[in-house]
Amino acid sequence: MLNVRKDFPILTKVHNGHQIVYFDNAATTQKPKQVIQAIVDLLENHNGNPHRGAHILSVEASKLYDDARIAVQKFINAAHSEEVVFVRNATEALNIIARSYGETHLHEGDKIVIPISEHHANLVTWQRVARVTGAKLVYMYLDETGHFTENDLAKIDSKTKIVAFAAVSNVLGMKTPIKKIIDKAHAAGAVVVLDGAQAAPHMKSDVQQWDCDFYVFSGHKMLGSAGTGVLYGKRDLLNDMEPFLLGGDMIEYVQEQTTTFNVLPFKFEAGTENVEGAVALHAAIDYLENIGFDTIEAKEHELVTRALQGLEQIPYVHIIGSTNAEEKTGVISFTIEGVHPHDVATILDSYGIAIRSGHHCAQPYGSHIGAEASNRVSFYIYNTVEEVDYFLDKLKLVRKTMG
Ligand code: PLP
Repeated sequence: MLNVRKDFPILTKVHNGHQIVYFDNAATTQKPKQVIQAIVDLLENHNGNPHRGAHILSVEASKLYDDARIAVQKFINAAHSEEVVFVRNATEALNIIARSYGETHLHEGDKIVIPISEHHANLVTWQRVARVTGAKLVYMYLDETGHFTENDLAKIDSKTKIVAFAAVSNVLGMKTPIKKIIDKAHAAGAVVVLDGAQAAPHMKSDVQQWDCDFYVFSGHKMLGSAGTGVLYGKRDLLNDMEPFLLGGDMIEYVQEQTTTFNVLPFKFEAGTENVEGAVALHAAIDYLENIGFDTIEAKEHELVTRALQGLEQIPYVHIIGSTNAEEKTGVISFTIEGVHPHDVATILDSYGIAIRSGHHCAQPYGSHIGAEASNRVSFYIYNTVEEVDYFLDKLKLVRKTMG
């Protein structure tokens, strides 16, 4: 049995007389002592500006930063460590791809195909590429239960230059048929941008097996600290891209009027690197791998099954997308008839239960399904069946509380 709660100091927090129940893990996860300690250790013992000094502290910081990159390379099974670029978060990674690849490689008449359920980070970015290049942004609308249809997949054709999608949707929590879409995209000659923000924390990532061209994720959603994310790109593609930010460490040689750029991955890492974030991500990866993704998936499956069963018994609760736990990670979005999602979240907060309300950064999907706002519960390794039952009990009080 997975018993990790002791590692997460924040889980003992009491709010309004109730021990906190944290079900907002798709937004950000809590941090184990091992991750917190790794940051403290860096700052107390090894802090220096990496790749810039001959002194011991710079050398130690460089080593920790470089080791973190190797850990990420192994974590996602990238072929080369220089294919792993540290960025601030998934959003920044997607912006780099859109600006440095999309805007320079797409032309009028080309198509960018994405699901309607995408997070704004993987949608607004493509809107601009379309505007700047004259390419067309085309949506796959999914069926009523959140599945891709044959009609959706048929939109990927020889005009398609980019297919961008989340490996797991942050609204639906459903696992996308990754390989099927990637194979279809590659057969059409398109480049695949895979958003792993909701996948990397919950399942084994394997960029070589998937054969995605780009893969992005955020450290803070997988036990790491905020401010560190990963941009993976196949080496040839990254080499063929202009750097996004210019400045220190990303240069090779600077003259008055011209500059040559550093090699990968440094070409994309201008400015002083976030060593704390890299070290935290390394510790988070070690922590997750120590547990193992089979165990993580089994735990989330147990929680999501219990929650779905409970929610389905409440007649005025409407679950968004599939209700088949097999198809999901630990995310469930729902609405309650007659109660605004913000009221639901506020009432549950009074019982110490933290859930999400709003449009979940996927407004086009909310508009498409006629639910501009909804609630979302999202589980992680430290959540328990007892917490799910407590949430279901309190959820039943919401309509009474509203009168
Ligand atoms: N993509 C998906 C699917 C997400 O769920 C999120 C965040 O919720 C992001 C991208 C953006 O992540 P970040 O805010 O860490 O950049």
